[in-house]
Order: sequence, then structure tokens, then C-alpha cells
Amino acid sequence: MQTKVGIIGAGPAGLMLSHLLHLAGIETVILEKRSREDIEGTIRAGVLEQGTVDLLNASGVGERMMREGLTHHGIELQFNGVRHRVNMHELTEGKSIMVYPQHEVIKDLVAARLKAGGEILFNVDNVSLHDVDKQSPKIRFQYDDSDHELSCDFIMGCDGFHGPSRKEIPDSIRKEKQQIYPFGWLGILAETPIANPELIYSNHDRGFALISTRTPEIQRHYIQVNPNDDINNWSDDRIWTDLKARVETSDGWTLPDGPILQKNIVSMRSFVCEPMQYGRLFLAGDAAHIVPPTGAKGLNLAMTDVQVLQRGIERFYQTGSKDLLDRYSEIALRRVWKAQRFSNFMTTMLHRNFNHSPFERSIQLSELDYVTSSRAALTSLSENYIGLPLEWEAERTVFS
Ligand SMILES: Cc1cc2nc3c(=O)[nH]c(=O)nc-3n(C[C@H](O)[C@H](O)[C@H](O)COP(=O)(O)OP(=O)(O)OC[C@H]3O[C@@H](n4cnc5c(N)ncnc54)[C@H](O)[C@@H]3O)c2cc1C
Repeated sequence: MQTKVGIIGAGPAGLMLSHLLHLAGIETVILEKRSREDIEGTIRAGVLEQGTVDLLNASGVGERMMREGLTHHGIELQFNGVRHRVNMHELTEGKSIMVYPQHEVIKDLVAARLKAGGEILFNVDNVSLHDVDKQSPKIRFQYDDSDHELSCDFIMGCDGFHGPSRKEIPDSIRKEKQQIYPFGWLGILAETPIANPELIYSNHDRGFALISTRTPEIQRHYIQVNPNDDINNWSDDRIWTDLKARVETSDGWTLPDGPILQKNIVSMRSFVCEPMQYGRLFLAGDAAHIVPPTGAKGLNLAMTDVQVLQRGIERFYQTGSKDLLDRYSEIALRRVWKAQRFSNFMTTMLHRNFNHSPFERSIQLSELDYVTSSRAALTSLSENYIGLPLEWEAERTVFS
């Protein structure tokens, strides 16, 4: 088998890259180890930055999102039992976020790719990368019980944190920087009406809580727990009691409860792999970086990585020049680190660190007090949450 760009992984990064390259007339093949049903049913992120919404619309896959997604103009920050609205729409001159689940984005992208005759091989096994530092790299894999080899000009490692691509960058070159947080998120999907018109991020003495939504009927809420806790310790009653205590306010607002459809605990880390390229291998999305979900940046970063890649690949096939591709890592990492900074800021400001001294706890509450009082701080939080413009990176590079 042969193609121009071999893509490992049909997550948001791999699918969007394939879609964008198709629009530029560049053929790709996507290799995905899971089934179509599995990737289309996995619950993950839900907050799309303005830039991601614009990208989905501009590339022709935003129609269902615009119909079914929920536009939010702000968020609410809660501490000491009082809520403070952050009017992001006003603070960012008219921008907003869209609440539309990641698996719905996946469905829209898979449908668009297949409709356009794109090649996605699901349920592949034993994917391995070869000759990534040579002119013609190869991906070997098993599909339909037989061995295959895909020759290509470039390999895109869009295979998430646990995929095989990142390890192809030699140890002598690859630097992995990470921070593990002493917090876990117990997430639930619950069948209840929408609790609040906007997301609520609450810092409470018992720990952080996030009230969010997926659809008018299904809600996604989280509470901070010990990352090593066992989900079996959390009965549905215990979850609702704890969640309600963390978001209650003095004005009598109550959180609607209902049947819990799904619950699990995830740990939190920040992780960056530098560089994000080696030879003819390029990493995008979670394969190269992980952010704690407090800043809602994971999916959005995957989308900006692939826009940088698409421009570099397009330039290569149009002019023969690899200059932009050679700078992919430098350009993408600048944005990645800004998202890491913001995600770390939100995580440390909003979670209850039970190792903190009373002094440190008061400093944390004072930070929330400052952020919700100062227009400058609110503007900074808003522009980061809504998503910094990709043009910032573009202006400092030869990008077009
Ligand atoms: C449990 C969980 C909850 C999350 N919640 C949020 C959230 O609330 N907000 C937020 O912003 N972000 C969240 N994230 C992060 C966000 O979902 C990711 O940042 C996003 O999915 C990144 O997209 P990606 O395409 O880079 O990677 P992925 O979505 O991980 O896609 C990688 C794909 O590669 C495939 N793959 C892996 N190995 C191989 C292989 N060997 N061969 C072939 N295919 C392979 C995988 O099956 C997968 O389909 C969450 C992540 C997780 C794990």
C-alpha cells in the first residue's frame, strides 16, 4: 500500500488532519486500532474553543454542531459559597465557546471522511513504524488477519498518549517534561435537566467541582477525589450528596439529580514531549502533550497542532520546500506551553490541595478574589479559555 501521508490514530487530531489534507488535495490513510463504534461512543472532552468552532465550520463539518451544540458566552467561578459570572463574550469582543461532545465531533469527521472516499482502516493491530528518518518511511500493521505495509512520504503520530509513535523519537533527542497532580476527577454522566445555563467551576473546602452539560437531557459533572480512590467507594447517593454540597449557594439554588449512567475516576497530569518531530515523523495531539482538563484545552490543542501541520504539508507539496514542516515543533510548542500554563493555573487555583498550610489556602482564595474582581485578570482568563489566536504563532513565523 502507498499514500502520501500515513496517519496513526482516528482521534480528533488524525481525523481532522486527514480531512484538512483531503480539502487540499493530499491523500492520506488513517490506521485506527479500535472499531468505529468504539471511537464514536467514547465520552471525553466537551468544550470547543472559538477557533475550533471556526475550523469545523470553515472546513464544512460544523453543520450538526451549530444545530445541536450549546453556545456559552461565559462561565461561573464559585468560592466561599458565592458565584461570580465571567462574561467572556464581552471580555473577548464577541467570542464564545461551544459545548458539543468530542464523540459527536468524531462522528461528524468520520462521516465526512468516508463520504469523500477517505480511507480509514479500523481494528488494525500491531502497528509499527519504520525508517522514520529516511525519505520513504513505512508503517507495518495487521488488518483482516494479514500483514500489511504502508509506504508514505510522512507519518503523522496522532495515536494519543499510549500510542507507539512518540517512542520512535530516539531517547537521546526526546525530552519528556511532566507534572503529576495529587488530584483525580470523578466524572459522571447523568440523566437530568441542564443545571445552569453556563459551566460552574467551584472551589470548595471539600474539593473542586465542575457542573457541565452534554445535551439538554444528559449532564456531565465532576468532583475532585483522590486519584487512587476506587470508584466502588462512590455510591450514586454519595456522589450526589458531595456534588451538591460543593456547588450549593446561600440563595437556595439546587442541583437537579437523576440516574447516573456512567461514572469513572481519572488522574491528572501535564506532559510535553519535545521535539514533536523527528525525520519524517510528526506528533500531534495527546501523542505529544497532555493537559489537565480544568482548562478544557486537550481537544482544542489537537486541532491547532494539525492546522500547523496541514499548512506545512501543503507547502511541501506545492513548492517542494520543507521549511515550514521543519519548524512545526517550534511553532506548535509555543502554543502548547501557553495552554499548559493556563491549564496549570486553572488547576492549582480551583482544586483543594489538602497538603496546603492555612496560609497557602488563604492565598488561593485571595487569588480567586482577585481574578473575579479585576477586569485585567478576567480578560486574561477569558482570552485563554476561549482560545488564544493561532495567528500569534503565525505572526512570529513565516506561516503563509
Ligand atoms: C478519560 C478522558 C477524559 C477527557 N476529558 C477531557 C475534557 O473534559 N476536556 C478536554 O479538553 N479534554 C479532555 N480529554 C482530553 C481530550 O479528549 C484529548 O486531548 C483528545 O482526545 C486528543 O485527541 P487526539 O486525537 O490527540 O488523541 P486521542 O483522542 O487519544 O486519539 C488517539 C487515537 O489513536 C488510536 N491509537 C492509539 N494507539 C494506536 C495504535 N497502536 N494503532 C492505531 N491506533 C492507535 C486510539 O485508539 C485513538 O482513537 C480527556 C481525555 C481522556 C482520556
